[in-house]
Amino acid sequence: MNRPRILLVEDEADIRRFVRLALEREGMAVFEAGTVWDARIAAATRQPQLVILDLGLPDGDGKDFILDVRGWSSAPVLVLSAREQEQEKVAALEAGADDYLAKPFGVPELIARVRAHLRRASLLGRDGAEPSTIQFGEVSVDLATYEVQRDDAPVHLTPIEFRLLATLIRGHGKVLTYRQLLLAVWGPGYADRPHYVRVYMNNLRQKLEQDPARPHHLITELQVGYRLAGIRRDDAVPAMPPLERRLEARHHA
Ligand code: CA
Repeated sequence: MNRPRILLVEDEADIRRFVRLALEREGMAVFEAGTVWDARIAAATRQPQLVILDLGLPDGDGKDFILDVRGWSSAPVLVLSAREQEQEKVAALEAGADDYLAKPFGVPELIARVRAHLRRASLLGRDGAEPSTIQFGEVSVDLATYEVQRDDAPVHLTPIEFRLLATLIRGHGKVLTYRQLLLAVWGPGYADRPHYVRVYMNNLRQKLEQDPARPHHLITELQVGYRLAGIRRDDAVPAMPPLERRLEARHHA
């Protein structure tokens, strides 16, 4: 199996070296770019499976690069942002980024996110085909028949609750902003009502989480939005890519 190809776009040489070494230790092939210009060329020639992107680049905004790449690539984009750049982070997610990490970040967190997104991309497959039934924790959801079960017992969701859950499921672990959720679930005209999302997320947690106060799946991204963690697709488990198995074997050795 080929090594996963990661494009790392970052203008600070120290951060670039540190991230590169961490990814290479995990068996990944890393291509570097320090400007938006170089990033565009590298994305086109290297066809990365995942992009790690700093937003503040010397010749432009990482966001413009995301808008560009989203036109022709479905590779997950993981944004690196400074902690105070809340608005930037939200704008990057709305431009099509999949996730973000606030600087400074630790290597284990970075590797976990990268692996999760690579796994998600390989589950979806090249055609992006959606399974109709998915699981997370004790919950199973049939997107075709609208049936939801928890511990094999049916759970009743209101239409809005179901639409919110289905939107998170279709995000496949992506961080979705308040605005994205409001547009998808309630429609245009509701984009400035984040409290709607909070109320309905709370309902979903009451119905679906083992401990609604400490959710394991319906995860808050502070001041940004939400994501659904731990999605499984039973038929996809045996198809775990060899790289994952190698890495796990190494961790257990
Ligand atoms: Ca920078």
